[in-house]
Amino acid sequence: MTAVPHQQIDPAVSAFLAKPRGHWIDNKVVAGQGGKVAVYDPARAEVIAEVPDGTSAEVDAAVAAARRALEGEWAAARPADREAMLYRLSELIAAHGEELAQLETLNQGKSIMMSRMLEVGHSVEFTRYMAGWATKIEGSTLDLSLAFPPGVRYRGMTVREPVGVVGAVIPWNFPLIMAVWKIAPALACGCTVVLKPAEETPLTALRLAELCAEAGIPAGVVNVITGRGETTGAALVSHPGIDKVAFTGSTEVGKKIGHAAIDNMTRFSLELGGKSPVIMLEDVPVEMAVGGSAMSIFFNQGQVCTAGSRLYVQKRIFDDVVGALGQAASAMTVGSGFDPNNQINPLVSERQQKRVCGYINQGLAAGARAIAGGGPGDGPGYFVKPTVLVDVDHSMSVVQEEIFGPVVVAMPFDDLDDVAKRANDTVYGLGASIWSNDMGKVMSLIPRIKAGTVWVNTHNMIDPNMPFGGFKQSGYGREMGRAAIDLYTETKSVCIAY
Ligand code: NAP
Ligand code: MG
Repeated sequence: MTAVPHQQIDPAVSAFLAKPRGHWIDNKVVAGQGGKVAVYDPARAEVIAEVPDGTSAEVDAAVAAARRALEGEWAAARPADREAMLYRLSELIAAHGEELAQLETLNQGKSIMMSRMLEVGHSVEFTRYMAGWATKIEGSTLDLSLAFPPGVRYRGMTVREPVGVVGAVIPWNFPLIMAVWKIAPALACGCTVVLKPAEETPLTALRLAELCAEAGIPAGVVNVITGRGETTGAALVSHPGIDKVAFTGSTEVGKKIGHAAIDNMTRFSLELGGKSPVIMLEDVPVEMAVGGSAMSIFFNQGQVCTAGSRLYVQKRIFDDVVGALGQAASAMTVGSGFDPNNQINPLVSERQQKRVCGYINQGLAAGARAIAGGGPGDGPGYFVKPTVLVDVDHSMSVVQEEIFGPVVVAMPFDDLDDVAKRANDTVYGLGASIWSNDMGKVMSLIPRIKAGTVWVNTHNMIDPNMPFGGFKQSGYGREMGRAAIDLYTETKSVCIAY
């Protein structure tokens, strides 16, 4: 295992880490009055920073700042001003790309290549895409048939108004991307934001907030409050000063947040867990099936809401594909994300490493067999070996529950009826992929799969212009594309008599 010595870290990262940490409220660092949360480098199991554990008074202050901005300077900004600010933000993310990428790899553990390409690259493009929406929000004019009083005529129109102050709560798997996914559409629509990053990964969100200020976004429009979910997060989502909650994370917490939001009739959108099936039909060449299933599950160490964690391979090619996948997984190099040659990097935390190994052990105890991996990698970091489980039964927890680690269960299937039934046999419905060049079969399967996204001959691909969200217990609402505008606006009907 190789780790990068600290002297090779970008000086901008060291400078950021050396600064006193606080919340970000009204474009200023605000010291916390409560306890602290330690932030780790998961490749070395070392503390790299501390952030405040936000109190409810600090949440109040952030919400009040967001409200003042919403009703003040931000309301006066023209759509073209918001577009220009978001565009400047995208340029600043790009200009600070190496710093943000290293900060993310240091804190989250993922490969530096993924941090550069995705955390930074996608964040730049997503922010730029959403900047464009700021000037393209529209309503409609409506013909009305009202007949009274005689002689009066009517014209209706709809106006999209910002939903208001957004409380955003995000997870640790794609920390910068998740922050941008919430902030950029909210700002495009004229909303203001209080964001609570995951306790494990608050650093890039705090740096992003500084860049928002540098981009000219007025004080109070973007606020970041750090702390734990059960306290700081719960105080934010139940706050009566919040107009909308935008959440990404587990289904368990998503349900709690939905309940808390409904108590105040706060609007909410939930992007939740998954147990996404990867379906390999028998015409797929073995090499393509192995590459496709490996990238579907092992990308980001399986810490992906759409991770292809259930692999269904048609019987005729099952042994060849799964045997080769086991060999490929066993050959993967495990180590620090700072060495781009490492194919599997640490999980985000010791807690997540234990959780994932706990699932593997449950599977093994229930009769599953590991043909690759099967436990933790060499420490001190929070590594888990890429794991392929076979001989599984559909009722096992490893088949039904979201593991959120580099663990795939592989199962053979007979025909399309068999695989459609089993693909839908979990509470989740986030993503699915179908691999085949037999378009007749592909087209007949797509409508039978209950999932928010169905990929064909690819997996995990997300584009700013393509709606993203879950069926069933995988969520509520759609992010991305035009659908994001629905999440961050209210429709007002105007009825004019003349
Ligand atoms: P989580 O508990 O759902 O956390 C997501 C976010 O919600 C974090 O910011 C968390 O804060 C916050 N939170 C937790 N309880 C809250 C509450 N009662 N009110 C308001 N906010 C609350 O996820 P996790 O604990 O980090 O990971 C556990 C499992 O969730 C994973 O193993 C995985 O299966 C699943 N997960 C799914 C996704 C996804 O994208 N689908 C993402 C992450 C995790 P703290 O970080 O401070 O606890
Ligand atoms: Mg948590």
